[in-house]
Amino acid sequence: MSTTQNKDYYGTLGVKKTATSDEIRKAFRKLARKYHPDVNPNDKKAEEKFKELSEANDILSDEKKRKVYDQVGFYSDQIDPATAEAYARQQEGQGAGGRSAPNVDFGGFDFSGFQGGPGSSQAGQAQGAGPNSWGSFRDIFSGIFTGNEQNAAGRRARGPEPGTDLEYQAPVDFWTAIRGGNARIEIHRQEVCPTCHGQASSGAPTTCPECNGSGQVVQMGGRMKFNIPCPRCGGTGRISNACLTCQGEGLVHRTESIEFRIKAGTRDGQRIRLQGKGNAGTNGGAAGDLYVIVRTGTHPVFSRVGDDIHLTVPITVAEAALGSKVDVPTIDGRAQLRIPPGTQGGQKLRLRERGVESASAPGQRGDQIVTIEVVVPQLNDERSREIMREFAKLNNQDPRVTLFDKL
Ligand SMILES: [Zn+2]
Ligand SMILES: [Zn+2]
Repeated sequence: MSTTQNKDYYGTLGVKKTATSDEIRKAFRKLARKYHPDVNPNDKKAEEKFKELSEANDILSDEKKRKVYDQVGFYSDQIDPATAEAYARQQEGQGAGGRSAPNVDFGGFDFSGFQGGPGSSQAGQAQGAGPNSWGSFRDIFSGIFTGNEQNAAGRRARGPEPGTDLEYQAPVDFWTAIRGGNARIEIHRQEVCPTCHGQASSGAPTTCPECNGSGQVVQMGGRMKFNIPCPRCGGTGRISNACLTCQGEGLVHRTESIEFRIKAGTRDGQRIRLQGKGNAGTNGGAAGDLYVIVRTGTHPVFSRVGDDIHLTVPITVAEAALGSKVDVPTIDGRAQLRIPPGTQGGQKLRLRERGVESASAPGQRGDQIVTIEVVVPQLNDERSREIMREFAKLNNQDPRVTLFDKL
């Protein structure tokens, strides 16, 4: 007999028990984006967390499942809403346990095939779901933004379901981000199985031997009688052999190289939406979208902050003291920078509209901001040292005087 461990789906999503479906959807999307395995490659913890989120969302985003969960304290496909309601009433009548966490005892009831439910050992497997295994990782995974299981062979036939969105980070070269161009990224996505065209099965369906085609089986659990949809055929009464190419998933997993356009002036962290490049939908549902988050590369001389370009330029003491005009590099060649007399080290000078052309505001350009670094000369000959001493006598200011004033 299985013991049930009730999961706190509301707590997992960080929402109240009274949360609206919109609040649940938003909470899930926000967390899913953070813990999605594509964003956290090889991170077991994030993957676990993501699975928990998906499971919680799967239950709470479905009005019927949520009701069962609220009434019984956990969810199974095998408990129909009427049974759950009867159970909740019975619990209330006995005053035992309360509604939120009833001490469930479905003695003799087979929980082994739970859809992500308590004790579901299949939840961690990334292997393909055959016709008799329900609730594999892939089922949960592929349903992330729809909250539905996908259609596998022998399952209840479902309508078209859209594919899930994908999100990838793409490193983009410093210059490509500034000037625009093309970039490539390798992604893993689900495509409609080419063998069965998403049907998930091969050959004509036959009568389900488990329920003899009725689609219903009866389970006794203590004093409760469960009239449940047949787990073998999902209540359809008919089963098919799983397609060998996709192991009955209707989808295959592919690695694909995707080329996309980078607009001139694209900034670090910008999201690009590639419509229809996400996972394929099932039963003719539309494909999801691919979101590419641009990660711009660095440059040995220039650094970029938004549309501004920053760089440090060394000048001599004479150039700083007397003022001068010096050539500095910009992202489109040399430019002349005027150094005013008396310029100090660390001072920032601005070259207007010498930065990056804005991707969002056409015709606008950022600035180039030059940080001045004054280079002190190494005096290697007696004549220079003499001049420096002479200079010091003529200019005997103490630059530290204000420092002591403030003590
Ligand atoms: Zn059946
Ligand atoms: Zn197939």
